[in-house]
Parts: sequence; structure tokens; C-alpha cells
Amino acid sequence: MVEFQDVSVTYGNGVDALNNVSLKIKDGEFAFVVGPSGAGKSTLIKLILKEVSPTSGRVLVNGFSINKLKRRDIPKLRRTIGVVFQDFRLIPSMTVYDNVAFVLRVIDAPKKYIRSRVPYVISLVGLKDKVKCYPKELAGGEQQRVALARALVNDPALIIADEPTGNIDPELSFQIVQLLKDINSCGTTVLMVTHEQELVEHFGGRTIAIRDGQIAFDQVLPGADVEGRI
Ligand code: ADP
Repeated sequence: MVEFQDVSVTYGNGVDALNNVSLKIKDGEFAFVVGPSGAGKSTLIKLILKEVSPTSGRVLVNGFSINKLKRRDIPKLRRTIGVVFQDFRLIPSMTVYDNVAFVLRVIDAPKKYIRSRVPYVISLVGLKDKVKCYPKELAGGEQQRVALARALVNDPALIIADEPTGNIDPELSFQIVQLLKDINSCGTTVLMVTHEQELVEHFGGRTIAIRDGQIAFDQVLPGADVEGRI
């Protein structure tokens, strides 16, 4: 669950990035966040990850109060969130398997669990045949699937996808969003930032538009794929 109560962020240079934003995303929801460059979308995400603190207002994420969270407890918050970036951020010297397993190794998960969980999430994203490949041997859409598997492997309550389709072909973009939708239908909350109007129109659902640091619009759009109308 993500809740913003009257949240404002003013950066050190005096820029008001967010202005009295109130917002609630319940467990199990899927929401698109849209808006022009400079609108405040990244600031919103950085607040959720506690990379930025609110200047005023309250932020609650997965049972953590961002305002009160101590520095040493930030990793606990971040373990409840999987993040997918536009530029994938895979480790080039590691195979697909190791890129995903790495997340569990750093938190000292039991080896037996890693051996069963990693192949499972890799097959969920459709890359069973690529476990031994290195990122450079994969197409952009496939690299993003690895990043999704990595975000999922720790079974987070929330997935944040920050322009996840920004670097991949339009056709494959639809597959990535469909994967996020499938993940969401298994109970994970998904927040996806995007510039791509076609994706939002195709899939529909809750769409939060941010403009000039404020919520310009927060509605459920119908989408083009309802009742098999693709
Ligand atoms: P978006 O992700 O929608 O492009 P941002 O949240 O990155 O928007 O930025 C919102 C506003 O805050 C912009 O005017 C941007 O220039 C400013 N901004 C973002 N990060 C910083 C920062 N670290 N220091 C100062 N100003 C910033």
C-alpha cells in the first residue's frame, strides 16, 4: 500500500517538484503514472523508495512511515519493493541466472530456496532457455524480462516500473506491460511510469496524470482490450 498525505517536495535549489499531493494505491492495484518531463514523476518514485524525503506531508509505503524511517531501516523498506528501470541495469558480467540469483544471495537466502526460486521466476518471464546467457546476448525486450525476474524474485509487495518500455520496440513493449499485468493479477501491486500513450490507451486501468507537481487527473480508463476487443 502506498499513501501520500498532502506531500510536497522542494529541492535545495528551491524547485517545487511536488505540491500537496494526496494519493492512495491499495494492495493489489495496477496504476499507470503519466505526465510530461519535469512533472514530478521521478520525485514521486524517489519518495516511495526513500531516496528523497518529503518537505511536508506524510508518505506511507507497505507499512513503513517514510517520514520516520531510520537510515538503517531503509533496506527493510526496499526489500518490499521490486524496481524495474528504463535502462535495465543488469550486471554485464553475470548470466541471466546470476543476475536474478544475486538479489537473494545478498540477503543470505538459503541456497536450496535460491535453486528453486530463481528458475521459477525466470520461467515466469519466459526466459527458461536463456538462463546461461549474458545480457549482451539478449534483445532489449529479453533484458527487460530479466530485470522483471530480478524485481520479482524476492516476492515484493510492490513493483515500480520506471519507463520500463522506454528502450524497447513498441511490439515488445506490449508484452512487457502484459507481463506486469499478469504479475499484478497474482496479487502484486504495480506502479508503472510511462510516456507511452498507446500503452495506457490499450491496457486502460487506473491512470494518474501528474503535471507541475500536482495530480492533474486520477481515473480508471476503459482500455481497448476489454471483452476481447484488441
Ligand atoms: P519527471 O520525473 O516527471 O521528469 P522530476 O521529478 O524528475 O520529474 O522533476 C520535477 C522537478 O524537480 C523538475 O523541475 C526537476 O528539474 C526538479 N528536480 C528533480 N530532481 C532534482 C534535484 N535533485 N535537485 C533539484 N531539482 C530537481
